[in-house]
Amino acid sequence: MIDAAGVAERVGALRERLSRIGGRQIKVVAVTKGFGPDAVAAAVGAGLTDVGENYAQELLAKANDLNVPPSAAHQPRWHFIGRLQRNKIRKIANLVHLWQSVDRPELAIEIARWAPGAGVLVQVNIAGIGGRGGCSPEDASGLVGRCREAGLVVAGLMAVGEPGPPEHARPGFRLLAAQAADLGLAEVSMGMTADLDVAVEEGATMVRIGTALFGPRSR
Ligand SMILES: *Cc1c(COP(=O)(O)O)cnc(C)c1O
Repeated sequence: MIDAAGVAERVGALRERLSRIGGRQIKVVAVTKGFGPDAVAAAVGAGLTDVGENYAQELLAKANDLNVPPSAAHQPRWHFIGRLQRNKIRKIANLVHLWQSVDRPELAIEIARWAPGAGVLVQVNIAGIGGRGGCSPEDASGLVGRCREAGLVVAGLMAVGEPGPPEHARPGFRLLAAQAADLGLAEVSMGMTADLDVAVEEGATMVRIGTALFGPRSR
């Protein structure tokens, strides 16, 4: 069970922490993977309408269960942040507000097919470890071009920081922010609970936070 008042309190603390480090408006995506629709409701209720999910099936189920009336003032805006499978895109295409994990041209083409003109981020593998998603930094520019050719709106770049002590993530974050600037892209989505301070120091415009809002996940 999610304690909505507790979430609201943690959102307040997080906002304070972000403004202390960043001194500017940083978007927070509430990552609700592993939690139920009550976590989404708590986030939206606390003013975090941007909600991140990692799995298509889980996103679909939660969007259904949540059942926010279309007239409600605050609707969740779903961000897809996990490994994206081409064959799942169609099912969630009408729900996703921002596709944050586009790391190969096939995904861009499939997204454009089912959600023409959708907003995307190109995910870059800054950690240099396999299996975590993201194109290589050398391929990012080309992939931005492919997304645009497909008619998608590329808002920026996204990455998952190198694991371990937060300082380990700093060089990669710096690289991502520099690359976004080189490409003229405004949005830099980086920083999770463990490394959000470093990410903001290095120029994140958007952080993706789960644990600090909802507590530890069972998986
Ligand atoms: C799970 C996840 C997050 C949130 O991680 P926390 O450590 O719980 O804040 C952010 N981004 C991605 C891509 C994730 O998979």
